[in-house]
Amino acid sequence: MTGIDDLPIRDELRGTSPYGAPQLDVPVRLNTNENPYPLPEELVARITERVAEAARHLNRYPDRDAIELRTELAGYLTRTAGHQVSVANVWAANGSNEVLQQLLQTFGGPGRTAIGFEPSYSMHALVSRGTGTGWISGPRNADYTIDVDSARAAIAEHRPDVVFITSPNNPTGTAVEAETVLALHDAAQAARADAAGALVVIDEAYGEFSHRPSLLPLIEGRPRLVLSRTMSKAFGAAGLRLGYLAADPAVVDAVQLVRLPYHLSAVTQATALAALEHTDTLLGYVETLKAERDRLVSELRALGCEVTESDANFVQFGRFEDAHAAWQALLERGVLVRDNGVPGMLRVTAGTPAENDAFLDAVRELMKETS
Ligand code: PMP
Repeated sequence: MTGIDDLPIRDELRGTSPYGAPQLDVPVRLNTNENPYPLPEELVARITERVAEAARHLNRYPDRDAIELRTELAGYLTRTAGHQVSVANVWAANGSNEVLQQLLQTFGGPGRTAIGFEPSYSMHALVSRGTGTGWISGPRNADYTIDVDSARAAIAEHRPDVVFITSPNNPTGTAVEAETVLALHDAAQAARADAAGALVVIDEAYGEFSHRPSLLPLIEGRPRLVLSRTMSKAFGAAGLRLGYLAADPAVVDAVQLVRLPYHLSAVTQATALAALEHTDTLLGYVETLKAERDRLVSELRALGCEVTESDANFVQFGRFEDAHAAWQALLERGVLVRDNGVPGMLRVTAGTPAENDAFLDAVRELMKETS
């Protein structure tokens, strides 16, 4: 049998494994930070209409620049994220993973490096590897916040070309202060003052769930600061694959150098536009999920768990002597959560009230057994 390693794959891919949260068929699936609410029927009907219209033109390539969609996304950000942006500031791709990949293809690559403060979203390191960008694992405090001084020191030492700041962070749920972002942005520019500076990417995939305002206004006057967002979480449309960024128009021009022509299908554009027409309804679900997230934090604490403050649609909890054994014990009770490899900790996504109750019951039993 031929194995991967028998093939002439790139050396840096040898011995590595693909990203993969288990997709198991269990009653309560709270492991991939999805929105538990299916799209409302009126929106499903509107998607059907808009996709039918798009289908009449599928003999043609889609709008390569996705102008209508980017205009609507800019309008959404302007209404909800505290800063006015226009179509020239916004770029969209197939999930924010593709946005991040395009940014690394443009601003990273062979001979360049990217830094992230870990534990954080593992795809930042994986997309770096996939684009030939060297990865630097930056430090975090014991409470999972970013320590500005040590982060600045790591930036000064490594002089990265790309800096990732995830806020709210995955898997910990912690948000990052605007002052911290600015301090790291300035440190990254100072470290690469001899080049054309460094690109700083704020990954705000969970921005809509935060107790705090979006970091979007920080892009004003900072052409090397990029905000990345997604419709996978707040819009309940993980299956759609639609992510986007907001930045100086020069950044949007720069990613055109690497994007595949017609990367966003006409079906994707039509579906995303339909979802944006229903923003208010979808943001109503976000409010319910925020309340459920806060309930998970307080009930888990009441059960005696250590819980990290969360601004996202998930909660990091523990502390278990053997987190993987706890993960398995919850799975045996029909509840799938995520073991991200953070020592002693697991992560649960806020589900429907009934799913969260089932999860809390399972944790209660587990705590009884182990105490
Ligand atoms: N950023 C973060 C921090 C995430 O947690 C995720 C999804 N888990 C993504 C980006 C990617 O999301 P998508 O590609 O679905 O937009």
